[in-house]
Amino acid sequence: MKLVVRVKLLPTPVQAAALEATLHACNEAATWAAEVAFEQHARRPLLLRKHTYTAIRQRWGLGAQAAQHAIKKTCDAYTTLATNLRAGRYGRPGTRRHTLASGKPVTFRDDAAQPYDDRMLSWQHAARTVSIWTTAGRMKGVAFTGQDEQLAVVAAHRRGESDLVRQGGTWLLIATCEIEEAALNAHPAEFLGVDLGIVDIATTSEGERYSGRRVNRQRANDRRLRSTLQKKNTKSAKRRARKHAGKEARRNKDINHKISKRIVAEAERTARGIALEELTGIRERARLRKPQRTTLHTWPFAQLGAFIAYKARSAGVPVVYVDPAYTSQECSHCHHTARHNRLSQAEFTCRVCGFVEHADVNASHNIRQRGWMAWVCGAQSTAPELTLIA
Ligand SMILES: [Zn+2]
Repeated sequence: MKLVVRVKLLPTPVQAAALEATLHACNEAATWAAEVAFEQHARRPLLLRKHTYTAIRQRWGLGAQAAQHAIKKTCDAYTTLATNLRAGRYGRPGTRRHTLASGKPVTFRDDAAQPYDDRMLSWQHAARTVSIWTTAGRMKGVAFTGQDEQLAVVAAHRRGESDLVRQGGTWLLIATCEIEEAALNAHPAEFLGVDLGIVDIATTSEGERYSGRRVNRQRANDRRLRSTLQKKNTKSAKRRARKHAGKEARRNKDINHKISKRIVAEAERTARGIALEELTGIRERARLRKPQRTTLHTWPFAQLGAFIAYKARSAGVPVVYVDPAYTSQECSHCHHTARHNRLSQAEFTCRVCGFVEHADVNASHNIRQRGWMAWVCGAQSTAPELTLIA
């Protein structure tokens, strides 16, 4: 299984200047190569190399590898464009959008990602530094940072190329990791249903509830601070708001890592699969009061779902996604479905059979049953192949 991990670089000002000059040079060279590819109809790497390799090395001072990667990046961009054109993503041939997209060379932004292979980039994991090629020469001892769990994954499983990129003033290396998967458990004994929510972030059909109270309170504070800072609208207030947003994201990510780890461990220990709701449904189905609505829109459900999926996949635990419609109104006992079954946020009482349960636990049982039905009917594990974990 492939995982993508983002590692933040902490360059000194001198190092940052060299990285910036390098990224600019690589992208300028790629944009130029794209013009040549367009004019000469040379969109395959071998052919384009003939037309551009020497010039790129001389004019932009790129090393052999960097030049090759810039050329390959250009060819890849044309391949992607051709795929998109064929798939009709720019409309039909002859339309304005289609002509605009196909009638000019592709271009690269100054800070677009540049691939680095092992000859251009080496990692010193113990020291948390990399040694990286730049147009100003090889730069050693560029510090990096990240969460412990992610850094451990990079140290143990990184393979092939990493992308150097700058996003919003932050330097990142985007590393691809190849993780061995345990053999998929093709005969799960049961499914563990997981209901994602607001008051409880996650509730399993084992009755385990992961409370969101601490997180929600913290997030309410964060929201207040954010709106105060936005009103101020000064440079320093903006900086503070940005810094704060980063902190909030890191904390949420950390919580999601912990919850997903426990859920997957439980499923693995008991030889069960995991049933999750289709994540697109969560926002649509919820009709909520306003304060809850903000909570819902900013809570990273998708991230928790993705973390569960990749941890399950590497542990060989099958994952199926089920239709989330009415999971909170259906009685998991007799399947009578009515809005009135749900008395409040927390209480579920079936009007027909009298079954009483915590509302989220009842929902997670419905998800469990739907997951099991889907599996028995021939559903395959649908944990995604490639996941961004940081
Ligand atoms: Zn019932």
